[in-house]
Amino acid sequence: MKPLHAPLRLGLTGGIGSGKSTVARLLCDLGAGLIDADAISRASTSAHGAAIPLIAAQFGAHYIGEDGALHRERMRQHVFADPQAKARLEAIIHPLVGQQIAAQSGAWAEAGKACIVFDIPLLVESGHWRRRLDRVLVVDCTAATQIERVSARSGLTAAEVQKIMAVQASRTQRLAGADLVLFNDGISMAELAKQVREVGLQFGL
Ligand code: ATP
Repeated sequence: MKPLHAPLRLGLTGGIGSGKSTVARLLCDLGAGLIDADAISRASTSAHGAAIPLIAAQFGAHYIGEDGALHRERMRQHVFADPQAKARLEAIIHPLVGQQIAAQSGAWAEAGKACIVFDIPLLVESGHWRRRLDRVLVVDCTAATQIERVSARSGLTAAEVQKIMAVQASRTQRLAGADLVLFNDGISMAELAKQVREVGLQFGL
């Protein structure tokens, strides 16, 4: 049955390795709809993605690989050498991602979801997104746990993980923007799932 109200729009954020994807999955298991902005962005620059013809027109076909997807390494070098190119690339990709997010939100609302989870990088840094969400859930853990989890998953060294963390919003900034915090540290997956179920109850899940 469709809920009488528009779905609650829940922003989900957290530093690298905090457990965002795990929490997103658990919320989906409880019936939430998911919008994964990273996946949408990647899809726009993969083969036949909506950004591909625009990138070819603006930057040249040289930036499109033989498989029809963005030649990421070539573009990475280009934007590294020319900061304006980064802004031009973002001016192509961001509106497309925004359109796709709007379309997916509409589809989830139409499907009768009580809650839509917005997994959006830079959510804390972006006033744009904060204004469009009803609540922000931050998945938090200590820096030591972030390093441990990401190193175990990716094989990166502690120094490499710290470098990534240094360019993300700080833990303090993130917590300041939170309506709710899940402290995912020193707890089992089963305990995390239990806490997510409790949080989900507040969002009609
Ligand atoms: P990223 O920002 O890199 O995408 P993330 O915040 O989405 O990371 P996850 O991928 O959900 O984080 O979790 C990182 C790793 O830590 C995964 O391997 C996950 O299984 C593990 N993990 C998360 N929470 C727990 C927990 N409570 N107990 C044990 N392992 C956990």
